[in-house]
Amino acid sequence: MDGRTCSGIVFWCALLLTVTAMALGAVVWWTRQQRLTQEKEEYSKAIAQRSYMKIRDFEEKRFPTPNYDKRRKNEVRGVVLHHTGEPTVAESLEILSSPERQVSTHVVIDTDGTRYVMADPSVVTYHAGLSMLNGMEHCNYCTIGIEFQGNTLVAPLTNEQVASAIEYLLPIMEEYHIPLTNIVTHEMVRNAFRKQYPDKRADIKVDITPAEYYHFMRVLCTYFVITKQIKNCM
Ligand SMILES: [Zn+2]
Repeated sequence: MDGRTCSGIVFWCALLLTVTAMALGAVVWWTRQQRLTQEKEEYSKAIAQRSYMKIRDFEEKRFPTPNYDKRRKNEVRGVVLHHTGEPTVAESLEILSSPERQVSTHVVIDTDGTRYVMADPSVVTYHAGLSMLNGMEHCNYCTIGIEFQGNTLVAPLTNEQVASAIEYLLPIMEEYHIPLTNIVTHEMVRNAFRKQYPDKRADIKVDITPAEYYHFMRVLCTYFVITKQIKNCM
C-alpha cells in the first residue's frame, strides 16, 4: 500500500468514526429529551389526578391572634413554611394566640385543608425568630408564616394541605411579587442565620422536613409550569 492509499483509509476511518459518534450523541440527546418530556407530562397528569391543581375552595376561618407587632408593617418579600408539631389544630391555635407565649403566624392549615387565618399579610407575626432569608435578616418583618397542622417528622402533608396552601399563596405571591426562591422553611432561615452569625446563640430549628418542603415546592412550581408562567422547575 502506498502512502496516499494509507492516509486515504485513515481519513475515511476518522470520518466514519466522527459521523458515528455524532449520530450516537444525537440519539442519546433525543432519547433524553423524549424521556424528559414524558416525565413532565406524567408528572403533570399525576398532579392533576390528585386534584392538587384544581384549586378548590377550602374553608377559611378567621382566628385572630393578639401576638403581632403593632408598630411595624410587614414588607412581605417571602414565605416561611412550618409544621405546628402539635397533636390537634385546637392546641396549635391556642399556642399561637396565647399572650404568654408571644408566638404567632399568619395562617394555620389543618389536615383537611381548612385554613385558620390569624393575621393579614401586612401584619408582622412572630414565627421565624432569629432568621435570615437570601440576605434579609429578621424574617418576621419580611415574610408570611404558614403553619401546617401536624408533625412532618411523623406524617407527610396531606394533599388537602398542599392544595389549600397553594390556594392561599397564589394571590399573595402575585400581589407582593414573591419569587419561588423566597419560599423556604423555618429550618432554612435558621440555618442561614447560624451560618452568618456563628457566635450568636441561635438554636437549631427542626421543623417541616426537607422532603415535605421539596414535595410542596415541586407541586407549586409545576403549577407555574402548567400555567406557562415559567419554563421548568429544574
Ligand atoms: Zn417553625
